[in-house]
Amino acid sequence: MEVAIVGAGFSGAVVAHLLAKSGHKCTVFEIRSHLGGNCYSERDPKTNVMKHVYGPHIFHTDNERVWNFVNQFSEFMPFVNRVKAITGGRVFSLPVNLLTINQFFNKTFSPSEAKAFIEQVAEKDIDEPQSFEDQALKFLGHDLYEAFFKGYTLKQWGIHPSDLPASILKRLPVRFNYDDNYFNHKYQGMPKNGYTEIFEKLLEHPLISLNLSSDFDPDSKSDFDHVFYSGPVDKYFKHKFGRLPYRTLDFEAFYAEGDYQGTAVINYCDEQVPYTRITEHKHFSPWEDHAHSICYREYSRSCGNGDIPYYPVKLLSEQGQLDSYIKLAKQEKNVTFLGRLGTYRYLDMDVTIAEAMIVAETFLLACEQGNTMPSWLEESK
Ligand code: UDP
Repeated sequence: MEVAIVGAGFSGAVVAHLLAKSGHKCTVFEIRSHLGGNCYSERDPKTNVMKHVYGPHIFHTDNERVWNFVNQFSEFMPFVNRVKAITGGRVFSLPVNLLTINQFFNKTFSPSEAKAFIEQVAEKDIDEPQSFEDQALKFLGHDLYEAFFKGYTLKQWGIHPSDLPASILKRLPVRFNYDDNYFNHKYQGMPKNGYTEIFEKLLEHPLISLNLSSDFDPDSKSDFDHVFYSGPVDKYFKHKFGRLPYRTLDFEAFYAEGDYQGTAVINYCDEQVPYTRITEHKHFSPWEDHAHSICYREYSRSCGNGDIPYYPVKLLSEQGQLDSYIKLAKQEKNVTFLGRLGTYRYLDMDVTIAEAMIVAETFLLACEQGNTMPSWLEESK
């Protein structure tokens, strides 16, 4: 079959790789001048540090299949994300753990004492938290919520936490021990030579033709047997129901001598500090040695027409616009929507890869059995 693949981020690159390996001809359209989507990394010419050009990407997963898959394309170096957070002029450890609680409340609690204490300060009358704010108040109480989450979330999403879904906060664990690993997953690591190499290897196949700086016109879908679309779903339908809201990020790069902040990521949780975090890229490659440093101050804002979309903004209320697009997507023939932009979901890299693998396998099976390929997979609800 001859397929078009729109987007050369993880969704598109994984599908192209798996289909080309099975003998299908893949034409990849990537609107940017490089592959890798927001995972793209490159060496900074001044410092030679590997930069995460679109902000920090730490690979973590519980999915052994995904872990084994990515390890075919890069050596992954041991890396544990240990985030620090500054609030009210003091530095703490995130995610909220026993050290955070003890330092914040100036206590020496044991795990069970800390648990009992948080239960006491938490809001007990919230049964099933729907909003980000309710989730925080129920599991952390007012003070930790105000210090670490309220201001940061207002800056990050531009929306009050009471209007955001609880699922956003559920990404972060709360621990009553001293484990300060930001992620709960079994596997975590950093690709030794950066992410871009993974995409180059994924897309290196005689049956894959890669078109960078090329937009895909949905009107040309009939030139192909099937289209895998990982661009924005609203763009595919020419914004017929208006633009789905996204947050975009601005990075203000600056250079420093030696070690600027002593770790890869420091969050700035106070609302009056305009940026959300500072990333010092060389700490993502602790096995390398660099005298000079490059850092990014990260600012979040509403995504305008020419901006790069990062985070889909899903409000607790109002889902009508998205539902209208999903309905159209489900009816579209010979197209499959996938990935963060194609299905408008806040996806981590590992989930994106896992879903792309399933999409490719579903297609291969459909070809074998003469079935139609669904345009929207059940997993992508
Ligand atoms: N968050 C926060 N304070 C922090 C870190 C995270 O309020 O110091 C909130 C914020 O709303 C964020 C969400 O928790 O969007 C999920 O955090 P995560 O670190 O997963 O965000 P990402 O790295 O994906 O931007």
